[in-house]
Amino acid sequence: MVALIPDHARVNTSPQTILKDVFGYRNFRGEQQAIIESALDGRDSLVIMPTGGGKSLCYQIPAMLREGTGLVISPLIALMQDQVTALNEVGIAAEFLNSSQSFDEMRSVTARLKRGELQLLYIAPERLATEHTRALLREIPISLIAIDEAHCVSQWGHDFRHDYLSLGELGALFPGVPRMAVTATATDRTRDEIVARLELNEPGIFIAPFDRENISYSVQVKTDAKRQLLKFLQARRGEAGIIYCLSRKKTESVAAQLCEQGFEALPYHAGLDSDVRRENQRRFLAEDGLIIVATIAFGMGIDKPNVRFVAHFDLPKSMESYYQETGRAGRDGEPAAAWMVYGLQDVVRLRQMLDESQAAEDYKRYERYKLDALLGWCEVTGCRRRPLLAYFGDSLAEDCGNCDGCLVPVKTWDGTEAAQKLLSAIYRTGQRFGAAHIVDVLLGKATDKIGQHGHDQLSVFGIGQDMASATWRSATRQLVVAGHLRADAERYGALVLTDTSRGVLRGETPLQFREDPKLPAATVRRSSGVRAAVVTEDEGLWEALRDCRQMLAKEHEVPAYVIFHDKTLQEMLQYRPKTAAEMLDISGVGQTKLDRYGDRFLEIIRQQ
Ligand code: ADP
Ligand code: ZN
Repeated sequence: MVALIPDHARVNTSPQTILKDVFGYRNFRGEQQAIIESALDGRDSLVIMPTGGGKSLCYQIPAMLREGTGLVISPLIALMQDQVTALNEVGIAAEFLNSSQSFDEMRSVTARLKRGELQLLYIAPERLATEHTRALLREIPISLIAIDEAHCVSQWGHDFRHDYLSLGELGALFPGVPRMAVTATATDRTRDEIVARLELNEPGIFIAPFDRENISYSVQVKTDAKRQLLKFLQARRGEAGIIYCLSRKKTESVAAQLCEQGFEALPYHAGLDSDVRRENQRRFLAEDGLIIVATIAFGMGIDKPNVRFVAHFDLPKSMESYYQETGRAGRDGEPAAAWMVYGLQDVVRLRQMLDESQAAEDYKRYERYKLDALLGWCEVTGCRRRPLLAYFGDSLAEDCGNCDGCLVPVKTWDGTEAAQKLLSAIYRTGQRFGAAHIVDVLLGKATDKIGQHGHDQLSVFGIGQDMASATWRSATRQLVVAGHLRADAERYGALVLTDTSRGVLRGETPLQFREDPKLPAATVRRSSGVRAAVVTEDEGLWEALRDCRQMLAKEHEVPAYVIFHDKTLQEMLQYRPKTAAEMLDISGVGQTKLDRYGDRFLEIIRQQ
């Protein structure tokens, strides 16, 4: 689609005017305005904002206001396409250059660029590394350079991209052009690394609060994972969501099972045929209420605003991953749920994968630290949001009231004696067995394995009959997480004692364990925010508005939310605009969208 540069998007307008007229939003969020001003002053900046925080506007608006074309460097080809489509929809002249294009497409983009027609050009980092592209870009005025996913420059991060290293040269190549590095994840260490490696010049540093208030967090202990998942999904029929699994096979089996239960669910992983993968992603973006069951191959660059839940069927590998993955829920600001189940097996497997990896030792140590932080977080007994934010250097004055820890307070119990029994049983059986056998010994069960090894002759046999097997498993898991026990990768996950076990055995380390709640049914608020907000008598209009959006989306071959977000339809429902001027007051309706779609929606509202 060819977009003309609208007059109102030219220099001499204010950021506020562009926000209103082009994007159709009333107010800047958080520090957006300060970030934009800083870029307009020609300064470099580092912007750290959670997913969904509104990073794009921070560079799009100054890029439009300054003379020349704004460059946006992004490693995610899928995201480029999405962003360019969305920008064209609001009437901004944007294009992209990446390896997915044909020669002719590239030539046409280059020609437009040279003619000075483009307000924004999205470009892949590897493309920018070529001499040819650099020469091309030096011929034209550049308004600003945005470096998206800037944490990819960090060699310690999990998304390290080699091509990002050469981006440090941009300052020298384009002197006087402000650069803006943006990312959703950055610890202090990564922050410093980004500034250093990108050679940002005395950057303004903007760090948005990390709290995603609309996301409710909940973590359950895995008992019967599939049943737990179904229970969670029961209240969410018809909502779009992502379910993460560790293995490709599991994504397929879970998706199939959900379909049997009447959900619309599709698998997604790197092993699928690329056509299937693309089609499943396309459907997820385009349709309402689809569930995608995916490995972490899915999600980078998923921009769908109305993802109502992200569920983790297996543990992610760090708090950073967890935060980023769950951050894909509720980008529209409406209530959304982050739900996870985890158990001892996950802990053992993730630690094992790390132990066996070929990576450098200091890297592995850092990864282990990150995994342990996540495991510790799973076991917290109070509000979950506070430690989550604390991990990212943020704080919350009060408990959030919107997580399982707040809604269903966890009880704790003195586990010192139980831990001693458990560690003794492991020691006496020679540190060669997994949790299941150890628990059998404690409970005094007469299994074949016990008979075979003569474990019924040991003093520890049957000393744990005062507790249920689930409680013993829970204690085992918590000891592993706390580092008082370790699963030995070389011996098939056999539990072995650690340096700190001795202190526990001697009673020098008092332990508090969390009592795993019984399968909680209503730990989180119902998340169907958008629909729940629609009262029944409006149901007809709501459906009509949605149908209209779906039809327009088909006609224009874009995802429905590119036409209008749920939030925008919701405001139409609430305020019932009758005229074009009233329509412009609706959040998400700018001049271009009003011109394109306003009449169709006004028509529907008038008919009511
Ligand atoms: P990020 O890149 O930080 O993950 P986006 O830039 O994609 O987030 O913004 C997330 C959503 O919020 C988008 O749908 C965007 O249009 C919307 N948005 C951004 N800024 C504002 C604002 N000031 N008012 C209303 N909506 C906004
Ligand atoms: Zn809380």
